[in-house]
Amino acid sequence: MKRVAILGSTGSIGRQTITVVSAHADELELCALGCRKNVDAMLLQAVANGVMTIVSPNLGEVVGYSCYRGENAMERYAAEGDYDVLVVAVVGIAGLLPTLSALRRGKTVCLANKETLVCGGPLVREALTSGGGKLLPIDSEHCAILQCLTGSSPKEVDHIILTASGGALRDMALAKLPEATVRDVLAHPNWNMGNKITVDCATMVNKGYEIVEASYLFDMPIDKIRVLLHRQSVVHSLVCYADNSYVAQMAVPDMRLPIQYALLYPRHTPAVVPPLDLTAVTMSFQSVDAERYPALSLVRDAAMKSAARLVAINAADEVTVEAFLGGHIGYGEIHTILSRTAAKFDGGIRDVEDVLGIDAAARRLAKEGIC
Ligand code: MG
Repeated sequence: MKRVAILGSTGSIGRQTITVVSAHADELELCALGCRKNVDAMLLQAVANGVMTIVSPNLGEVVGYSCYRGENAMERYAAEGDYDVLVVAVVGIAGLLPTLSALRRGKTVCLANKETLVCGGPLVREALTSGGGKLLPIDSEHCAILQCLTGSSPKEVDHIILTASGGALRDMALAKLPEATVRDVLAHPNWNMGNKITVDCATMVNKGYEIVEASYLFDMPIDKIRVLLHRQSVVHSLVCYADNSYVAQMAVPDMRLPIQYALLYPRHTPAVVPPLDLTAVTMSFQSVDAERYPALSLVRDAAMKSAARLVAINAADEVTVEAFLGGHIGYGEIHTILSRTAAKFDGGIRDVEDVLGIDAAARRLAKEGIC
């Protein structure tokens, strides 16, 4: 029996992870649940699933449960808890410390939190080397690449192609983009996800993060990772080999599949998602319009030049997306604030303190841009 702990259990990925674990009750078992804010919802999940260990910085004393509380609750659980697989599905930079703690112990981390690699990629790489743990992606594109790479050596790969749906604003007239409303942006055509990532899909900040993610997960230089617009979200990504042979992975757009593949890696196990009706699929691939998605090259350039700048972009993006969702800034201002904040940061990162320092400074700058 594999014991699965979920940090971020009340979010979209967390909830779907619980359904996948339940569907594979013969080999997976939930052993702990963690969240940041939604403590009541997490307690309901714990009761419903018979989980006796709960983790949250906002948790009071709960009689009868093993509780990890206080500001560093998640990190402590990751470092001390009794689990086989840690699913890190919290939003934002909060995912970094628990991931590092788990990998340093040689544990398996299923990572649904991109910020961890975007902000702390070099540190995660170090923790993987020193601890001997395993890092598996819960991200449809990276799950696809992992499958496409099976049985081959990285040397045989010419490049990786990440597919992008283009988000909810892909067909909005360019001139109208700056005035796009929250409602426009959240109406994602293919995927049902949390609000933050849905905005990040519209701007393609998310796809930029995925380039960084792929480069760390698969040890691939940034310039070997390309992006194509693929409206149908059926081909989840591709690998082009040295002989110009393309290997792609296809499935319905449903996050339960990447979750299941990560939890039971490297096996393909009975499905939790429906089959793809291939006869109903027409597929298209287009190059990405740089004018519509300026954030993609902003993140890609930062990935080539400066680890500190990536941290700053991530921090500024969290601040601006929240401000946008709260109705305080327009859609067009997201990119303006992002690029202005990014330009102030350069150089590398040495440790977690560095990351947190840059994160705080960039948040301050971004907030000044909003007021
Ligand atoms: Mg993705």
